[in-house]
Amino acid sequence: MYTYYISVGSNMGDKRGYISSAFQSLLHHEAISRLVTSPLIETEPWGYTEQDTFVNGVWSCESTLDPHQMLSLIQQLEQEAGRKRLIHWGPRTLDLDIILVYDIEGKMISLCDESLVIPHPHFWNRNFVLEPLSQLLPTFTYKGTKIADRLAQLGVYCLLYTSDAADDLLCVD
Ligand code: AMP
Repeated sequence: MYTYYISVGSNMGDKRGYISSAFQSLLHHEAISRLVTSPLIETEPWGYTEQDTFVNGVWSCESTLDPHQMLSLIQQLEQEAGRKRLIHWGPRTLDLDIILVYDIEGKMISLCDESLVIPHPHFWNRNFVLEPLSQLLPTFTYKGTKIADRLAQLGVYCLLYTSDAADDLLCVD
């Protein structure tokens, strides 16, 4: 059994609809349990900035799927959302990344191969990931730095608003 922290983002079309559909798929998946969402936040784009705002969040769950099986599952959910990769860091209907994984003893898993890097290589530099992650793991510390201090280090935050995503995601069927 593994514990996963998965980031979710969308900045095209019915953003909350794509996020909600993927959440519902995980909720009903036989290998997934204890699925929890952070509040969703809306953020300014970065990287390629000529695009719509993003809706971002982080989900946690437990699963018997190993990390590569989980990667296949989230890639399937991205495909179901009709994701097309036209521009690097450009618009996407649904982006799911595995951020952190813990084994059954609560030990953080580190993994690096041609298809998967865990922890996610950019998560510690992305306030749009760390903000929702901090809602689920407020005392999380990485390489000696508390998540709240890391958010403060990252400086001006592009948060536009937060919403009661847990309610939104759970009531849509
Ligand atoms: P992206 O376009 O940012 O969603 O990147 C997708 C690619 O990153 C896929 O080909 C994955 O194999 C690779 N990848 C490496 N590490 C991760 C991770 N922790 N979570 C999701 N995708 C990953």
